[in-house]
Parts: sequence; structure tokens; C-alpha cells
Amino acid sequence: MSFIEACDLQMVYGEDDSAVHAIRDISLEIEEGEFVAVMGESGAGKSTLLDVMGAMAEPTRGRIVVDGIDIYAISAEKRADFRREYLGFVFQNFHLVNYLTVLENAMLPLATTRLSRKEKTEMAQAALSWVGLGEKSHRMPNEISGGEKERVAIARAIVNDPPLLLADEPTGNLDARTSEEIMGLLRRLNQNGTTVFMVTHSLRCAESAKRRLTVSDGMIVEDSGRARGRLYSLPNPLDGVAAATL
Ligand code: ADP
Repeated sequence: MSFIEACDLQMVYGEDDSAVHAIRDISLEIEEGEFVAVMGESGAGKSTLLDVMGAMAEPTRGRIVVDGIDIYAISAEKRADFRREYLGFVFQNFHLVNYLTVLENAMLPLATTRLSRKEKTEMAQAALSWVGLGEKSHRMPNEISGGEKERVAIARAIVNDPPLLLADEPTGNLDARTSEEIMGLLRRLNQNGTTVFMVTHSLRCAESAKRRLTVSDGMIVEDSGRARGRLYSLPNPLDGVAAATL
């Protein structure tokens, strides 16, 4: 069994005439330790897929099993436990809380755990050191650069050492050099064993991934190949168009 198995996913927003088929039909297997980049045009369904995989939006059909856990078949409480234990999120635009320090931002995912304040502080400080911000933990978000904010977002995502990191456009607002630094961090995280699933518009960033998926109109139209050397590719209806527009 694969680490992540998504079967026959469908996600429809709204009903009847106003129904939007954000995901039409997606099945996907991801092995532990993979680094997957999801590409595709705006509105293709990438963020919806990320939300569904992150136990944040129940699909209208299909199921997702992560490490043997059928994440929408369990109670909301167990699902919250699952998110806490298994997932780290890097959202678009950092999503830092402006009135909390860098350290307090990095501690946020630990808020509902039973750890002591001291343990939480040590874990957040270790995560910040890992991303190279150990010395800036007492600054406020408006006192650091965009690239540093993204590092805080990554430290917050990995503070509880989750096996799976979900990232939505982690370099969306960053210049080329800073983007490369951030991708270096994600590659290092992946080399340490974390499975990374990342939505990106950037071909350059997608090159960091060992596997690239292209989503179009709610379906995977291209899959560069799974880990374990098994390569396959579906016919791509966007052939010739994709490279110019992505
Ligand atoms: P992408 O991330 O590739 O830009 P999204 O997953 O955000 O695509 O959106 C896929 C489609 O679903 C789009 O047509 C979008 O307008 C629609 N959509 C996304 N979220 C919602 C929502 N909460 N309600 C209604 N439609 C939505």
C-alpha cells in the first residue's frame, strides 16, 4: 500500500446550474519520501486537490487513505488529530500572525498539544534554527524580509516534524534567488525523509521535485512518474500549449 492513496476523487462546489467541478476525476498514489510538484493553469483544481489531501475539504466523491488512515471516514476530532500528527502546511502568502513574534508564530501548531511551554519553545526554536532564523526569533513579522517570512512559514509547518508537507505556491511572491533558497530548504527536508506535495506555477521550482503532475480541468493530464523508477505518462491534451502558458 502506498503512503497516500487517493481514489476516484471528485469535488463539486455548488449545485445544479452553478455547480463547479473543481476536481472531476483524480486517482493518485504517492510513496513515502516523494517530492511531488503539481502544476497547471489557474482554476485547474490544484488548490482544491491540496485542501482535499490536507483533510481540510471533504470531496464530494472518492476517498483518501494516508498511512492506512481513511481521512474522511473518521470523526472530525480524529481528523484534527490526523492533521496535527501528519501534516505541515505552507500556505500562500505566508499567513503569519502579525501581532505574534516569529517564535510565537512557529509555535502555533503546538498550541493544542499537551507539551509544556518550555518544550514548545525549544521545538519552535529548533525549527527556526533549521531554516536559518535562530537569531531572529524575537522579531515581529513586519521586521523581517519576504524570504524570511517564508522561512518562518516553513519552520511553523515542520515544528511538529510531520511526515507530510503540503505547500501552496511557497515561492509565489519571492524573487528568483530567494525562491531558490526556499526550494533548497524543501529539498533538504525531503532528503531528510519528509514527503513533499507542492503546488507551484514556477517550472523552475517544479524542477526541484522528483515527480511532476499537471492538472487541467480537474484531472491529472500528465504525471512524470512515480518513485521507485516506474515512469509513465498520460497523453497531455495541453501538449505544446502547456509549456508556453505554465
Ligand atoms: P487552482 O488552485 O488550480 O487555481 P482551484 O482549486 O482554486 O484551482 O479552483 C478550481 C475551480 O473551483 C475554479 O473554477 C474555482 O473558481 C472553483 N472553486 C474553488 N474554490 C471554490 C469554492 N469554495 N466555491 C466555489 N468554487 C470554488
